[in-house]
Amino acid sequence: MFFEGCGHCEYCTTGRETLCRTVKNAGYTADGGMSEKVLVTADYAVKFPDGLGSAEASSITCAGVTVYKAIKETNAKAGQWIVISGLGGLGNLALQYAKNVFNLKVVAVDVNDGQLEFAKKYGADVCINPIKENLGEYCQEKLGGVHAAVVTAVAKSAFNDAVASVRSGGRVVAVGLPSESMDLSIPRLVLDGIQVVGSLVGTREDLKEAFQFGAEGLVVPKCEMRPMEDINDIFDEMEAGTIRGRMVIDLTRK
Ligand SMILES: [Zn+2]
Repeated sequence: MFFEGCGHCEYCTTGRETLCRTVKNAGYTADGGMSEKVLVTADYAVKFPDGLGSAEASSITCAGVTVYKAIKETNAKAGQWIVISGLGGLGNLALQYAKNVFNLKVVAVDVNDGQLEFAKKYGADVCINPIKENLGEYCQEKLGGVHAAVVTAVAKSAFNDAVASVRSGGRVVAVGLPSESMDLSIPRLVLDGIQVVGSLVGTREDLKEAFQFGAEGLVVPKCEMRPMEDINDIFDEMEAGTIRGRMVIDLTRK
């Protein structure tokens, strides 16, 4: 996650610090993470507000702020339709931000029916499993196309489906990082004015806002606290797709 930018480049001085070409990311290019305490640069530390627990805050840092920023990037307005593709660790927070903060109507999309049931409980207006139903056709026929889509899934097909689901002038925001390329019909882009953009985590301001909505109870990360010794089991559960919400490693528990 974002650790610090240079502070003086064209991106750092225009509120786009995550695009800084000399950005440092904690756990990647700066030490930190997987520990109880970590040293951070004071200018880049964001306080979390009263009313927000540490476990919940840890889910908003990274996952929450990433999807909060991505939904902001869609420019979708209250009452409009958005596709949230991928309802895992990022997607279930995206659903809550979309419903409770941005007042959007949500089409939740996942290949795992268990994740969709979970999404329904969290207020998804429509749930679609793209293996069983054609997302693009459903959205175009029933909703006239959605206004926006946020793709947190890591399959190329999810990106193609998202483009197929938006209406003219719609915006697709990519967050997931599959290693493949997506197919983009140039006539569809040009004739229908579709926009496809990427969004990378969020700035300090975005994080401050994302935290605040958590503290106000509008977004409640579903977290389960587990001891460090469970970590390999957690990776197995992740691969099997049985995790609902986020697993938080409690380093104080033995
Ligand atoms: Zn910079």
